[in-house]
Amino acid sequence: MPISSINPATGEVLKTFDSLTEQQLEEKLARATQTFRQQRRTSFAERAERMMRAAEILEAEKKTFARTMTLEMGKPINAAVQEAEKCAWVCRYYAENAERHLADELVESNASKSFVRYQPLGVVLAVMPWNFPFWQVFRFAAPALMAGNVGLLKHASNVPQCALAIEDIFRRAEFPEGVFQTLLVGSEVVQAVLEDPRVAAATLTGSEPAGRSVASIAGREIKKTVLELGGSDPFIVMPSASFDDALGTAVKARTINNGQSCIAAKRFIVHEAIYDRFEKDFVAAMKKLRLGDPIDESTDIGPLATEEILKDLQEQVNVSVAGGAKILTGGQRAALTGALERGNFYEPTVLADIPKDSPAYRDELFGPVASLFRVNNIDEAIELANATTFGLGSSAWTNDDIERERFIDELETGSVFINGMVASDPRLPFGGVKHSGYGRELSYFGIREFTNIKSIWMK
Ligand code: NAP
Repeated sequence: MPISSINPATGEVLKTFDSLTEQQLEEKLARATQTFRQQRRTSFAERAERMMRAAEILEAEKKTFARTMTLEMGKPINAAVQEAEKCAWVCRYYAENAERHLADELVESNASKSFVRYQPLGVVLAVMPWNFPFWQVFRFAAPALMAGNVGLLKHASNVPQCALAIEDIFRRAEFPEGVFQTLLVGSEVVQAVLEDPRVAAATLTGSEPAGRSVASIAGREIKKTVLELGGSDPFIVMPSASFDDALGTAVKARTINNGQSCIAAKRFIVHEAIYDRFEKDFVAAMKKLRLGDPIDESTDIGPLATEEILKDLQEQVNVSVAGGAKILTGGQRAALTGALERGNFYEPTVLADIPKDSPAYRDELFGPVASLFRVNNIDEAIELANATTFGLGSSAWTNDDIERERFIDELETGSVFINGMVASDPRLPFGGVKHSGYGRELSYFGIREFTNIKSIWMK
């Protein structure tokens, strides 16, 4: 089946690619396996030199890469440039720190000498989403390759040009061919690749159903997995918080990447003492956002990445409204004109009075739709924040020491950001609990995920 690159702002088909044939796939698997034998013997210094070169390419050509991302999946161009810069950062971070993260660790025991050694696992399959089409891949690849593994990328089917550009970056950085290869295949091929004995492990960033599928196949095969899945992050605002900071960040945190971020704030839980003001100002700010062509630097919100995402979002809003939720602004596909007439634009939307059993309460809304909730106290805020099957990130706004400690301690999420927006940072571990997945990316936790943590005991 051909894989198409379609501009979501205009509907224009940019390019189509043939999926790999069985034989091409076999060649790539064989090459990966063979390359791993040499790659695992390379020094950290050699790998670091190449990873630094990858960072240089990313920085030097960030505008070109940004354009590829924006044209393929619709993120605003400035954010795409920042994404390329962030990829350079994670390459540098691991080039500089991998050796330290994976150094032998002496442990006192009954041996004359005992220690832990971290060794690469082998060929790692990365199944990745389109929403941060460079960042998601680099945050896997930089640590995995620095640890001595080799990577196979099965990228989302709507971003083949990004997938090929990334493969090309590693090639130009002079990593041996086979260290990082893109597989242009649909998701139906993932099972066969995962079941192949030459593949040691897998990481998936994406939706819950995809995570369940990959984890169950890997479970049968007894292969290590890391899963970074969906989220419905709470954004809690208490009366002691700086109101203006919280409000400005709230709008940004909901609409980043056209609302399609796993760690976007999705549920705004506001103390009743400030709720009315928050609701009024938040709605006003959402109304002001400029929808348009993401290639235009003045655009705040571009299109959703595919027509299907738009339809799913509209359905979630409709069902929530039918159940009693109130639309404070938006709630419709946005009708733009001219070249953008066929684009997947959705109005920035705010919902309130959300019933418990509705999608806006329960599910992840992957687009610029905010759900507002009023609570009477911190107990209610924490209970509501945790009343989800997800557990990725959370953001809590307060200047009260006791409240802050309670949020840190009681929010059931992989990260808690106090008076700030949830964001990933190469220095801090990233991941979720509950149905948001397991395992961690980034920091030294991330680089150790795809290693054999080998105990050495010597008499
Ligand atoms: P998706 O449909 O699950 O796709 C993600 C990747 O998985 C794509 O490469 C897709 O390939 C593949 N895939 C889909 N179904 C599969 C299956 N049954 N078996 C194997 N592979 C499968 O997710 P998405 O819509 O692209 O991304 C949005 C979701 O990702 C949201 O839920 C978001 O929260 C989550 N996400 C999480 C994080 C995190 O760090 N936790 C970060 C970003 C996004 P095809 O494109 O070929 O179908």
